[in-house]
Amino acid sequence: MTELKDLQTERENPNWCPGCGNFGIQVALKNALVEKGLAPEEVAISTGIGCGSKINQWIETYGFAGLHGRGVPVAMGIKLANPELTVFSIGGDGDGYGIGMCHFINTMRRNIDMTYIVQNNQIYGLTTGQASPTSDKGMRTPSTPFGLIEEPVNPIRLALSSECTYVARGFSGDVPHLTKLIVGAIEHKGFALIDVFQPCVTFNKINTYEFFRERVYKLEDVEGYDVSDAEAAFVRAGELEDKIPIGLFYKEERATYEESEPGLKAGNPAGADISDVDVGAVLESFM
Ligand code: SF4
Repeated sequence: MTELKDLQTERENPNWCPGCGNFGIQVALKNALVEKGLAPEEVAISTGIGCGSKINQWIETYGFAGLHGRGVPVAMGIKLANPELTVFSIGGDGDGYGIGMCHFINTMRRNIDMTYIVQNNQIYGLTTGQASPTSDKGMRTPSTPFGLIEEPVNPIRLALSSECTYVARGFSGDVPHLTKLIVGAIEHKGFALIDVFQPCVTFNKINTYEFFRERVYKLEDVEGYDVSDAEAAFVRAGELEDKIPIGLFYKEERATYEESEPGLKAGNPAGADISDVDVGAVLESFM
């Protein structure tokens, strides 16, 4: 049985700003791993670059810190090399919806069995507060002193239109609810997106804990809401003013990429006996 202490690394305290929304995500993820009884060696977390991308320094699992926006393709590679691992990619909104946008879309349409947690604070925190792909139109930041001109990315709508099979949004100020979403994502066979409202208490003074506490409501509390109805999910994803939904927007069962990939039908590549494989010819071809 896995306990919280098993997931503690030697580095004790994350160096995020006091009150940062990343703390809630870290706790929810650990809670979910304990609830699913997953041992550290059964889990891999791949990250990009950003404040939150340092999360795998403080969770005792396999971890890989990649380049900006590249956490998702590395996670995909890990899953294909060893499908028995429970694989996560974790990163911020700039990382995933800006620099890594192309990887994000392509991994969703492939339906790789993994969970992508996006720490969406609607700002570039690590680089001191520039506008990000999810910053609100009109927002004034050091990089947009006259107000942001562009429309923000809507991650939920983007996921729905990219054939994502588990589309959810959490709030790092509600750890029990976020824990449930992560547990559901682990149990889901296929690509799971969990976009998380993660207040950056230092650089985003608009999208604060108070801002979200006044606005969020849970889709599971909406009578008759059907998570298999993509059109209803698309409509709900457009609610971003006075009332903002969190929870599971959409879920569908579809064959995963791993199930359809011929090369994986022979079994787990990570467990294959390669002692009699001669790679000399392949190496020769690169000379
Ligand atoms: Fe968190 Fe923002 Fe501080 Fe980064 S700058 S650690 S996102 S509060």
